[in-house]
Amino acid sequence: MRKVMKFGGTSVGSGEAMSRTADIIMSYDCQRAVVVSAMSGVTNSLLEMMGEGGREVPEYLDWLRQKHHDAARGNISNELMPEYLEQLEHRISGLGHLVHLYRQDEDRVMYQDALASWGERLSSLTLSFILRTRGADSLALTSEEIGIVASGPPGNGSAVLPATESNLRRTLSPLLNEGKVPIITGYYGADLKGRPLTFGRGGSDYSAAVVANGVDADVVEIWTDVDGFMSADPRVVKKARTIAEMDYGEAAELAYFGAKVLHPRTIEPAKRKGVAVLVKNTFNPSGQGTRIHGLDRNSKELLRSVALKTGLSIVKIYSSELVYQPDLVAKILEAISADGTTIYAVSTSLSTLAVVVPTGSVPEACNRLKGFRDQVEAVKVKEDAALICAVGDGMLESCGVSAKIFSAVADVGANVELISEGASDIALNFMVGGSKAVDVVKRLHELYIGD
Ligand code: ASP
Ligand code: MG
Repeated sequence: MRKVMKFGGTSVGSGEAMSRTADIIMSYDCQRAVVVSAMSGVTNSLLEMMGEGGREVPEYLDWLRQKHHDAARGNISNELMPEYLEQLEHRISGLGHLVHLYRQDEDRVMYQDALASWGERLSSLTLSFILRTRGADSLALTSEEIGIVASGPPGNGSAVLPATESNLRRTLSPLLNEGKVPIITGYYGADLKGRPLTFGRGGSDYSAAVVANGVDADVVEIWTDVDGFMSADPRVVKKARTIAEMDYGEAAELAYFGAKVLHPRTIEPAKRKGVAVLVKNTFNPSGQGTRIHGLDRNSKELLRSVALKTGLSIVKIYSSELVYQPDLVAKILEAISADGTTIYAVSTSLSTLAVVVPTGSVPEACNRLKGFRDQVEAVKVKEDAALICAVGDGMLESCGVSAKIFSAVADVGANVELISEGASDIALNFMVGGSKAVDVVKRLHELYIGD
């Protein structure tokens, strides 16, 4: 049995949390590689440090030093403490040096990802010394050291899986075979020049799946601060419950639209190698969590979960040219997403294109649409809309699914504003007015998921 265990920011967020995390790691004796996030709050403060007008650099460095000292106190033995403090100081002065370069250089983008990755270098070091104190043969390793290869734009890289796999076979697998417990930095890889490239905020989950893919783990465990995926947001539906088992596809849909349980990109590298993903709660380790794998269930369920995303708008673009100019739709979508705006759903008809974006992005999107003055007759915006994402593997197998779901919508007097079905076999996404959204979710849960 070989597994990759990932612990998020809150799971390493204090001395107490680190101790709990160490207990969990020590409670297993199979082969295990650990991937960690930065202590909670650290990545934010690193990003803040890069901005203007924040505190002075030495203040940030003192704060980081103190935070990690506090986490170490009582968790790292007196024998190991001097070695820990020396290595911590080495890493903190490395950060100081980098900020100095960053502030002096014109080409700041070059340093941004390296700076953002620093929190993971500190947390992994601390946790590995805590584990050594408890008798584990543990060592801290950076993404560069084990060879997680990344490519893509700054702040939004992706792992290059084949290259990473061939590196990890050489660097990481032998350590696991020897019974060592490596603590690896999440959140980033190294580009072809060896420079850090981050995977986007919350990217440590993805890192863990990339490592699991590379060492052919049986399971990647995502240890976080919730019990797993739930049938609905418990703040909306009181009877919402944890889902014991899900298919990769269902989890990917829900992670994208709904709860912040798991970074949506985590699924792909795991799925490619058939590595199961297990979501567990560090603060409730005896809970069963949610197990995500390739499921071929006999008992498919119409609805397994209903996620809700509010704060969205529907931008409707009217153009009689739409069907006659095949590349117009693509160009419009490209313009809308040009500044990184996420498009949550798209729906087209003969002369209308409806695009769902966060309400905050609407003014900019409309601005960029002015470039299409000649082809577009009108642009109308419907604000305060909510996207409901109904997920279940029984969706497209049974007929009459939409009728069932939309009758629940009608029950609460809501209107379906837009439907985007069929892009995925197991999800039906639709929009309703923001004021009715919670009622729709409650009704769907009551009818098709129950207590
Ligand atoms: N520390 C990074 C962040 O805050 C990555 C992660 O936590 O997954 O986004
Ligand atoms: Mg996270």
